[in-house]
Amino acid sequence: MTGAYFLFGLLGLELAVPPSNAGAVWPPAGIALASILLWGRSIAPGIFVGNFCISAWAFGFDNQPLLIYLATGFGATTNALMGAYLIKRWVGFPTELLEDRQIVLFLFLGGPLSCLIPATVGISAMTAGGIITPSEIPVNWFSWWVGDSIGVLVFTPLLLTLFANPAAIWRQRVIPVGIPLILSFILVAVFFYYIQKVEYQRHEQEFDNQSLVLSQALKHRIQDQAQSLYGIRNLLIGIPDLDEKDFRLFSQPVLKEFDELEAIQWLVYKPGQFNKTSLKTVYSEQKTNVATYSDPLPAPLIDRMIQANESKLLAKAYIETVDDHLIFLMPVYQNTALNKTSLKGIVSGMISIPLLIHQVFKTLDSDGIYLAISGTDNMSGYRIIYSNTSNNLKGDYRQYGLQVADQIWQLYFYRDSALAHSQTHWSMWWFLISGLLFTCLLGLGSLLLTGRYFKTERIVDERTADLLQAKTSAETANKTKDQFLAKISHELRTPLNGILGFTQLLQKNSLISGLEKQQIDIISHCSEDLLTLINDILDISAIENNKIKITPEKFDLSGLLDDICQLFSLKAKEKQLDFVTSIGKHPRYLEGDKKRIRQILSNLLNNAIKYTDQGIVGLTVNYHDGLLEFIVTDTGCGIADAHLNLIFSPFIQVTEHGTITEGIGIGLAICQELTKLMKGDIKVHSEPAIGSEFIVTLPVSCTDFENTSLIDEQNSQRTGGKAKINALIADDNEINLLLLSNLLDAQCCRIDSAMNGQEALSLIDRNHYDLAFIDLKMPVMGGIELVKKLRNKRNGLKMIAISAYADRQMIQEALNAGFNDYLTKPIDSDQLIRLIQTTQINHE
Ligand code: ADP
Repeated sequence: MTGAYFLFGLLGLELAVPPSNAGAVWPPAGIALASILLWGRSIAPGIFVGNFCISAWAFGFDNQPLLIYLATGFGATTNALMGAYLIKRWVGFPTELLEDRQIVLFLFLGGPLSCLIPATVGISAMTAGGIITPSEIPVNWFSWWVGDSIGVLVFTPLLLTLFANPAAIWRQRVIPVGIPLILSFILVAVFFYYIQKVEYQRHEQEFDNQSLVLSQALKHRIQDQAQSLYGIRNLLIGIPDLDEKDFRLFSQPVLKEFDELEAIQWLVYKPGQFNKTSLKTVYSEQKTNVATYSDPLPAPLIDRMIQANESKLLAKAYIETVDDHLIFLMPVYQNTALNKTSLKGIVSGMISIPLLIHQVFKTLDSDGIYLAISGTDNMSGYRIIYSNTSNNLKGDYRQYGLQVADQIWQLYFYRDSALAHSQTHWSMWWFLISGLLFTCLLGLGSLLLTGRYFKTERIVDERTADLLQAKTSAETANKTKDQFLAKISHELRTPLNGILGFTQLLQKNSLISGLEKQQIDIISHCSEDLLTLINDILDISAIENNKIKITPEKFDLSGLLDDICQLFSLKAKEKQLDFVTSIGKHPRYLEGDKKRIRQILSNLLNNAIKYTDQGIVGLTVNYHDGLLEFIVTDTGCGIADAHLNLIFSPFIQVTEHGTITEGIGIGLAICQELTKLMKGDIKVHSEPAIGSEFIVTLPVSCTDFENTSLIDEQNSQRTGGKAKINALIADDNEINLLLLSNLLDAQCCRIDSAMNGQEALSLIDRNHYDLAFIDLKMPVMGGIELVKKLRNKRNGLKMIAISAYADRQMIQEALNAGFNDYLTKPIDSDQLIRLIQTTQINHE
C-alpha cells in the first residue's frame, strides 16, 4: 500500500500546476479508499506511511516540516477510513452498484464529502507551520480538496472494476468503465504535459524578447546621453573661453531632456595647483536637490587621459561608477607650443543608475523582470554596479554585454517565475480540472449506464425465466388439451359412428316413410353438425400446433361442386333463401387437397346461410391460369368495417347488439389457415345490412385431364359386375361391429367378425380374407400390434384401420405399421363403398 501510494503520489505531483505543489488530481486518495473498501482497515498504516513519504519528498526531505508530514499522513488515512465507513454505512459494500442513487451516493460520500478532511487538516498544519499565509488558505484548500475528490472519482471506480466483488458484475465493467476512465485520464494528462511545455517555451521566448528589448533600450538611452555630453565637450574644445552663461545655455536643455542626468560639470586641469587633485570645478549645472560629485577623481584615471593624449589615442570618454551613479568623463585637450596638446579639463555628466533603469523599464513591458549590472572597474576590478533583484530569484537569466565608454558592462536579466506563472496558473489549472472533471463525469456516466444495463439484463433474465416457465406450463397445458381433445373426440366419435351409420341405414330403408323419415333426417342432420363441430375443434387445435398438413391429390372438382351445390341448395331452401350458383369453365380434375377445399367452401356457405335471414346466397367458381377462385356472397347482416380484421381470429364472434349466434367462432380462422397452407388467399368485403362477399383464391394445378377422366369411366363400368369378397371386421364395440356388418352386407361381402386382435389373428390364420377392417383400440391385442404380427403372412390381404382418433399423427402411425388405409369413425359410407369397389376390381 505504501509503495502504491508513493508511486501514484509521484504521478499526482507531476500533475501539479506550477508554481504550486497542489496536484490537480491526487490519485492516491482514490487508491487508498478503494483499498480500505476491498481489503479492510488493516491497510490504513500503509496509507499513513505512504503519504508521509510523499510529503517528505515534495518538501525535499527537509526535516523542518515534520509535523506537516504527520498531519497530511493523518489527513489522508482518516479520509480513506471515513470514506469507507460512510460508504459501508449508507450504500453497503461489497455492492454491485446498480442503482443510480447508490452510484451517486457512493461517489459523493467517498469523494467530495470525505475529502474535506485531508484538505482541512493539511492546510491547517501548513498555515500553522508558516508555509502558507492566511490569505493563501482558500485557494490552497480548494485545490487540495478538488484534487483529492477527483482522485477518488477517477481511481476508486477503476480499482473496483479490477478487484471488487461480485466479480461477475464488476469484471464486466472493465471495458465499459475502466478503459474509458483510464484512457480519458491519460489523454488529459498527456495533453496537460503538452500545454505545459508549450507554455514554458512561450515564457522563455517572452523572456528572451523582453530582456533583449530592455538591453537595447538601455544601450540607446546611455548612448543618447553620451552624445549630448559629447556636444558640450565639443563646444568647450571649439570655444576655449566659453563663459558660464553659455555653458548653462547649452547644458540646461540636455539636463531637462534626461531625468536621470543629474549634473553636468566643467572641471579644469591644472597639475599641482589645487588641493588633493589637480582638477577644479569651474562650471556646474545640476538638478535641484542633487549633490554633485565632489570626490577627487582617481589619479590613474587622469593619468590614462593624459597618456591617451600623448599616445594620440582617440579616447572619447571614460566612466566612473560611484554609489548609484554613472559618471561620464570627457577630456578636453588644448594645443600647446610645439604642436602638442595637453589636458585642459574634463566635461563630466552624472547619471543616476536607478533613475536610468526606471526610465528604460517604465515605457516597456518589464513586468516581473529584474536587472543586475556588473562591470570591471579600473580600480576595484569586477563589481556589481547595480541590482534590483531579490535573493529569492534564482536560476534562469539572460546575459548581454554592453559597451559603455571605455568599459564593458554585463547586464543580467532575471525573471520572477512566480509572477510569470501566475498569469497562466489558473488557466492551466482550469484546463486540467475541466479535463479531469470530464473524466469523472465519464466514469459516473459509464457506471450509471452499466448499472442500468445490468439491471435491465437481470430483469430480462428473470422475465425470460418466467416466460420459459410459462411457456413450459402452456406447452404442458396444450399437450394435455390435445390429449383431452383426442380422447374426447374419440369418445364422441364412437357413439356418433353408431348414430350416423344406423341413421344412414334407416334412411335407405324403404319401409320407413313420412314423419319417421323426416325425424330420421333430422337425426342425421344433427349428427353431421355435431361431427363437423368435433372436426373443427380438432382442426383448430391442430392448426395451433402446426400439425395440419395439406395432402394434394388428384380430385374431381365437378363432383365436389355438385355435392356442395346439392347440399347447400337444400340448406338454403330450409331457410327460404335462394341459392344461386355460377360455375365458370374449369377442368374437371385438379391437383389439390379435396377434403380441405370442401371444408373451406362448406364453412363459407354455412356462414352465408347462417347470417342471412332473407335474400340470396350465391356461389361463383372460376378457374384461370392455375388459380381456382370461389366467391361466396350473401345478402345477410354483413360485417362492420371495424370487425373485418377480427373475424378471422379464433373464437371471435362478432355479434350485433349482443345476439348470440350458433357456432363457436373458429370456422373463418380454419378457412384462413387452410388457404394459407395451400398458398392461397382469402378476402372479405362486407357492408352491414347489405351483405358479405368472401373471395378465396387457391393455386391448384390441372393434371392430365383426358387420361384421368378415361380411367374413371373404366372403373365405373367394371364395378358393374360385383365380385364377392371376403371381409373380416375386428372391433370390441358391438354397435360398430353391427353397423359395419350392415354396410358391408349391402355391398355383397362375406363377413367374419372378431372382438379383439387375437381373435382376428386366429381367423386370418385359418381363412382367406380380401379385406380386413381393424379397430385400432381393442382389448387383448390392438390393431397396430395385429398388423405388425401379420407383416409377413398377409397373402394379398388389404388391411383398413378404423378408429375414432382422427389426428394425423395417429393416421401416420397406423399407415407406417402396415395398414393400407385408414377410415375415421363415424364411417363415411361413400368412402367405404369406394374401398370395396377397388378391392373387387383387384380381386377380379
Ligand atoms: P362462427 O360462425 O362459428 O361464429 P366464424 O369463424 O365462421 O365463426 O365467423 C366468425 C364471425 O364472423 C361470426 O361470428 C360472424 O359474426 C362473422 N361472419 C362470418 N361470416 C359472415 C357472413 N357471411 N355474414 C356476416 N357475418 C359473418
